[in-house]
Amino acid sequence: MKHEAYDVIVIGGGHAGADAAHASARMGARTALVTMSESGIGVMSCNPAIGGLGKGHLVREIDALDGVMGRVADRAGIQFRLLNRRKGPAVQGPRAQADRELYRAAMLAEMKAQPLLDIVSGEVVDLDMDSGRVTGVILADGSRITTRAVVLTTGTFLRGVIHVGDERRSGGRMGDKASERLAARIDALGLPLGRLKTGTPPRIDGRTIDWDRLERQPGDDNPVLFSFLSGAPAARQVSCAITHTNGRTHEIIKENLHRSAMYGGRIDGVGPRYCPSIEDKVVRFADKESHQIFLEPEGLNTYLVYPNGISTSLPPSVQEDYVHSVVGLETARIEQPGYAIEYDYVDPRALDLTLRVRDCEGLFLAGQINGTTGYEEAAAQGVVAGLNAAQAARGGDPVTFSRADSYIGVMIDDLTTRGVVEPYRMFTSRAEFRLSLRADNADQRLTPVGLKAGCVGETRRTVFERKMEALGAARGLLESMNLTPKEVRGLGIEVAQDGSRRNGMDLLAFPQTTFDQLVGAASELGNVTPEIRAQVKNDAIYANYIERQKQDVAVLRREEETQIPLDFDFQALNGLSNELKMKLTATRPVNLAQAGRIDGMTPAAMTLILSRLRQVA
Ligand code: FAD
Repeated sequence: MKHEAYDVIVIGGGHAGADAAHASARMGARTALVTMSESGIGVMSCNPAIGGLGKGHLVREIDALDGVMGRVADRAGIQFRLLNRRKGPAVQGPRAQADRELYRAAMLAEMKAQPLLDIVSGEVVDLDMDSGRVTGVILADGSRITTRAVVLTTGTFLRGVIHVGDERRSGGRMGDKASERLAARIDALGLPLGRLKTGTPPRIDGRTIDWDRLERQPGDDNPVLFSFLSGAPAARQVSCAITHTNGRTHEIIKENLHRSAMYGGRIDGVGPRYCPSIEDKVVRFADKESHQIFLEPEGLNTYLVYPNGISTSLPPSVQEDYVHSVVGLETARIEQPGYAIEYDYVDPRALDLTLRVRDCEGLFLAGQINGTTGYEEAAAQGVVAGLNAAQAARGGDPVTFSRADSYIGVMIDDLTTRGVVEPYRMFTSRAEFRLSLRADNADQRLTPVGLKAGCVGETRRTVFERKMEALGAARGLLESMNLTPKEVRGLGIEVAQDGSRRNGMDLLAFPQTTFDQLVGAASELGNVTPEIRAQVKNDAIYANYIERQKQDVAVLRREEETQIPLDFDFQALNGLSNELKMKLTATRPVNLAQAGRIDGMTPAAMTLILSRLRQVA
């Protein structure tokens, strides 16, 4: 079959691939999304949910750059919950339970609606290379597609091996074949590879669950959606339910540990510590008498239920026994057994901050292939790789993200500087500037970056500009207030009677002050919309902390701007320990900030590098 040439080819239609292809096309690059089958676009390999703590921040950032994951999740969401609602806005995370089928269909529709994006069904078995540069891809049917840049997003498919108890077979995930031939090309490129594993629970027929005995968990009354463009949920909303493992469940699991692929020594890869299998939980937290299980409907038109919290690689008969030991699941029917998968990943230290393979022009990697786990982490990398592949294809400047502006920047920096020792997932604790990197202000932080790069469309530009205008007007009104302590007390707000005059932003910084109270002092504030009120309140609460962080941010920015040339010779630095020389040579930091985060770096070593940089400049 004859294919036309493309600026960018994205291999894989999972979460990284979909957002990468869309981002590349938004940038104006002619893009092909080549994936095993069109019906696999947007498939959720594991739980049907998007967002959560840290992950919800990533989805908001993808959305702020006009990416697709947020609005697709809003269209497919059947239960929305803002996690950590009682804590401060900086650590709140939007989460949605999604209808698997609606999600897949909405993602496919997004891909099809993008004019510069073509979908090609087929397996990529090799890359065409010319003098260290990728020039095309070769499909299993022998056809070739030429291109200037490739984004590889093959997830768990590279030499994937599925384990169910003591049975093992090759596979990219249940029902899909693994990518063996492409793995051989990755070997030939000499990329550093490792092996990781992850698991998924059995799926249960919801008609066989005794729901009446279980605690129900409805969604929020005022759902918080992901996209800055979304209004209300599109789909009917449903409840989940909660049950627990018990002593009997744990006994069954302990008695059969030797039959688990994870514990029977049949899997070499390292698993996600933060998303442990039920075998892991029973062994590692031996003193806990029970573990929570969230029973999450997989959609509106299916009986399948996802029991979140009991992923496993025990044989099906043992899965059945322990599931039946749980309250409400005594007669539950397992529709598909849980399984584990191990797969190859590429050490992300082989990539630069644009997610390009440092030693291969035009080749970008994104998603689980880089050692991460989770749809959100994958999609966020997809956006970065897609933007930069388009830039590389068309001779544009790289688009990079800083730890100071986004969780995306934190993740890319962590991956490319430190690599991974277990599947990497996002947490709010990874972001040192998390008070300013909030889910609620992702648009203020990143939409201007996207507008400058060229990946934000007209609809979002208009919505964003209107919001910024409204925000500016509300802030202006609040800052122009000048109230004496007595006047403040008259509004019902308690402040020290210290003679200091305060403006509206000062007063909103007190957690107990409400916007409504201030309307008493400036009636024009009555016209401010609920969305802008909430935003100004959050900005006011954090203003003092952010002011204090400014100096640290400025130091980071300066260090990021101090570039280290690719051919910088760390070995020639007298006074640097051999261990550091080796680490720096292997990691090849692109700027001083990245060098500073390499394990074992010292202030003295930083000074040595800086003075050498000044000499060679
Ligand atoms: P994927 O979503 O896997 O997409 C890869 C795509 O590449 C697929 O569309 C595939 O068809 C395509 N492809 C592969 N090879 C080729 C080729 N040669 N040619 C063309 N197309 C190709 N995440 C969590 O956060 N928590 C969990 O508990 C969890 N458990 C998991 C359990 C299992 C069993 C699996 C399989 C995954 C689990 N995940 C979990 C991970 C989550 O599914 C991934 O992080 C996410 O899907 C990664 O997205 P991706 O785009 O990188 O890859």
